[in-house]
Amino acid sequence: MTQYEPVIGLEIHGELLTNSKMFCSCSADYGSAPEPNVNICPTCTGLPGALPVANKKAIELAALVGLALNCSINKHNTFARKNYYYPDLPKGYQISQYELPIAEKGLLEVNDVDEKQLKVRVRRVHLEEDTAKLSHEKNNALVDFNRAGVPLLEIVSEPDMRTVEAALDYATKIRAILRYLGVNSGDMEKGVLRFEANISVRPIGSDEFRTRTEIKNLNSFRALVRASQYEIERQIKIYEDGGEVIQETLGWDDARSVTTSQRSKEDAHDYRYFPEPDLPPLQLTDSWIDTIRTQLPELPEAKTKRFITDFELKPSEAIFLTSDISLANYFEEVIKYAKSSAKIISTWIAGEFIRNVNELNVDVNTVPAKSLAQLVNMVTDKTISGNAGKVVLAELFKSGGDPAEIVKEKNLAQVSDESFIQEAITKILDDNPSEIEKYHAGKDTLLQWFVGQVARATKGKADPVITKELMLKGLEERRK
Ligand SMILES: [Zn+2]
Repeated sequence: MTQYEPVIGLEIHGELLTNSKMFCSCSADYGSAPEPNVNICPTCTGLPGALPVANKKAIELAALVGLALNCSINKHNTFARKNYYYPDLPKGYQISQYELPIAEKGLLEVNDVDEKQLKVRVRRVHLEEDTAKLSHEKNNALVDFNRAGVPLLEIVSEPDMRTVEAALDYATKIRAILRYLGVNSGDMEKGVLRFEANISVRPIGSDEFRTRTEIKNLNSFRALVRASQYEIERQIKIYEDGGEVIQETLGWDDARSVTTSQRSKEDAHDYRYFPEPDLPPLQLTDSWIDTIRTQLPELPEAKTKRFITDFELKPSEAIFLTSDISLANYFEEVIKYAKSSAKIISTWIAGEFIRNVNELNVDVNTVPAKSLAQLVNMVTDKTISGNAGKVVLAELFKSGGDPAEIVKEKNLAQVSDESFIQEAITKILDDNPSEIEKYHAGKDTLLQWFVGQVARATKGKADPVITKELMLKGLEERRK
């Protein structure tokens, strides 16, 4: 039986975080608009005679992304009209970039299956404008132009990926880079970042490119993975049944877990692209590009390497911490205040801390870095036990406050006073003669159970090391 492999390319659309829209001075912050159709003007509603002016900030951010993705910047690049009619497109065309995008021929290294590294080529990065928002209500279609004309960046990869895992890592890395650069919030549930997957399948070993389909508007990583997997299986089945895949644009129906045909795919010529007559070509100079280059922050890959070297973290730990810019910054902030090793801080953040963040769906800065540092310091210097630390952390997430105060209020301070611990041990040994008998008969694992009983009786306050020592002694003393 023929074995197939997928050929995957991704297009990523990300809105740019500028104050104004791409070609007019209307606010681009449609999320904060008090009502529909307030951030609008003759230009972004396509009134006759209104002229576009390109947003300088958007051009800077687009170049920044191009440089971060190792692209070459086209010093001469042009805007083009992409003609199609749809109610969310007031002009009847979208201003985009076609033959000469702002950046092209980039490269991004991603993780593939079996710990393989894959270099994915970035074909192009170009500027365009977002469409208006359509909503449907009973028999009416409503259109809100607040989003029309918001700067949009399209990042197109070459079809270099052969596994869904590689595609997922590519998308994850692009999102992280956009957030590192501060050009896009990465809030996928708000629709500011959308994926499109181009997929075909072919027999393994073949180098032909077969007919591909394009899955539009994937609004989450989960949708990207599920839609791609579904589409790969669907195409393989078509070939196995002796059929042919037809080129088309598909949608992903998350509820039914299927891709659905939206329209037969347009080719570029269907859009009748031509140079935008209302905008001059963009002429960028070497010195301008160099200035943008100096604005590049430390990117995830470099930060990961630095975390491994400077903080002696394992690669997996460093990759986790640098996967998100706010998490990476938070970690470095905690380090400033901490007396514990970076390794211990990393373990706390990757464990209990992120568990709380995900469970409560809150920002990492909900608990100030200084508070987390104080908390971990208290565990390290044995003021409180690790378990008590978890209680304090939960309280910090719930109500905030000062970690030391919480320890006092909840009476969580660890006790290393031997007489206090001995008292608890004696009572537990007195109460459990049959367990002692089993222990003496050779069931060594019961030692941990006894230690656990002390932790429970003292509400986690007894120093576990001292407890274990004294418990061993107590058990030996009772050996007949
Ligand atoms: Zn406008």
